[in-house]
Amino acid sequence: MVNLSDFSSFFIANWKLNGNIDFIKDYFSKLQLNSKNGVVICAPNIYLNLLQKNNKNLFSGAQDVSKYHEGAFTGETSVNMLNDLGVDFCLVGHSERRQYFHENNREVLSKSNNLIEKKIIPVICIGETLEDRQKKITKNVLSKQLEECVPSNSNFQNALIAYEPIWAIGTGLTPKLDEIDEVHDFIRNFDKKFKNFKILYGGSVKASNSIDIVSLNNVNGCLIGGSSLKIDEFNKIIE
Ligand code: PEP
Repeated sequence: MVNLSDFSSFFIANWKLNGNIDFIKDYFSKLQLNSKNGVVICAPNIYLNLLQKNNKNLFSGAQDVSKYHEGAFTGETSVNMLNDLGVDFCLVGHSERRQYFHENNREVLSKSNNLIEKKIIPVICIGETLEDRQKKITKNVLSKQLEECVPSNSNFQNALIAYEPIWAIGTGLTPKLDEIDEVHDFIRNFDKKFKNFKILYGGSVKASNSIDIVSLNNVNGCLIGGSSLKIDEFNKIIE
């Protein structure tokens, strides 16, 4: 299992439904790692076995996992299957899963529990919609997600939290820096066990804004979608 305490920050690439074999070869031939930060590449399941990892600072991740362990569930991938491939991390509760595949907090909790049991690190995604933000209920929404999605046996060594305002994902919009810091501070103080959690920010991170975002006290890395597909941009972010 990855020792999360070995790293000050994590940079997690979410390729979503993108990539192919040539892309993967080219990507890893150009990826430039530095040892201080952990880098995780979350690829579509079919490519997980092609991802390079070094068990030092480069790790593999899935983008989702089944809540079922085995049986007649066509198209699903179980935690045991991820474990068989040596997958280190798995996103859970990404807003695109919630929005397009109707994933709810109960399922996010169950998937996170299953992953922790298999020593795969769940990256538990939470975030508010634009409507929530406009209604100024962001903290209520996050509280409910934290209460209902984060397993009681999770801790800073076996799970990560990613704050991803839904309105910032893939839009080029981001909250102001002090807003990001305030929300991360809110999450960190929500429960005393979150004090030492690594809390990542996600939503339109690019090379030009990543330095300011990760230099915030309460931010311990980023979850990166679009910009993680451009290797030169991603290299600048993880530099
Ligand atoms: C994401 O997919 O989690 C994400 C943050 O996407 P983007 O960086 O493209 O906003």
